[in-house]
Amino acid sequence: MALHKDEAIVLFKRSYGESDKIIRLFTLSSGKVAAIAKGANKSQKRFANTLEPFNRIRVEYFEKYGRGMVRIENADIIETNSGIETSLKKACTAGFFVEFVDRLTKERERHEDLFNVLAEILQGIRGAEFTYDDILHYQLRMLGILGFMPNFHTCVYCGQAMAADEKIFFSRERGGILCHKCAPSLPHQVCAEGVIAGIVSVQQANGNVAGSQDAWGCAENGPSYLDNGFERVAQDIMEGFMTFHLDVELKSYRILKGLIA
Ligand SMILES: [Zn+2]
Repeated sequence: MALHKDEAIVLFKRSYGESDKIIRLFTLSSGKVAAIAKGANKSQKRFANTLEPFNRIRVEYFEKYGRGMVRIENADIIETNSGIETSLKKACTAGFFVEFVDRLTKERERHEDLFNVLAEILQGIRGAEFTYDDILHYQLRMLGILGFMPNFHTCVYCGQAMAADEKIFFSRERGGILCHKCAPSLPHQVCAEGVIAGIVSVQQANGNVAGSQDAWGCAENGPSYLDNGFERVAQDIMEGFMTFHLDVELKSYRILKGLIA
């Protein structure tokens, strides 16, 4: 049996039997991997607090323990989750992105970009509570990496390029905006002017500045959509899109939504 060495982010853990733990890892080289940590429940020393959710670790494991699982041999910390457990909102935000990765990737599918974004997110949350714009930015980045970016730029039906103030019709089913000619004949929701433009500016901003008021340059954006129910409408658009196209409803999102409302 070959010993694999990798870097990983711990997505979930649960007890298994009296003395073992089952862990879901998101590894840098092999994507999502199910693992068993023998004796992790019995001997606190063996893995100390290494295999806690949101930890970034170095891991050594053997293929295959059975049922497609690997057996963790050694693990040590690169970056702990410390700082994330200090507030419910931080823990829920981290939980949302971890669930996002868990539900939208397949086992053993390598996703180096997604790994790096998740690591960046968790690092950001350790430092500061995310605003809704932070959450939206990273949600869009992850969707982009996975090839599921909604189209906020051209009419999804006729391909017409559109100016910011024309972007008011969103089609959940078609995954993007509609122009005023196509909208009447297709199901859509009407968004206040500036909401779609606001989403685009959040999408295009350089992230990694969680907690900073000016992180997204929204103030320069004209319409005061931030005071205008932007969050509620943007959330609604994203939620409808994710449910329709990816067939996922993230449990953690329901809780998080209550906290960012
Ligand atoms: Zn059109």
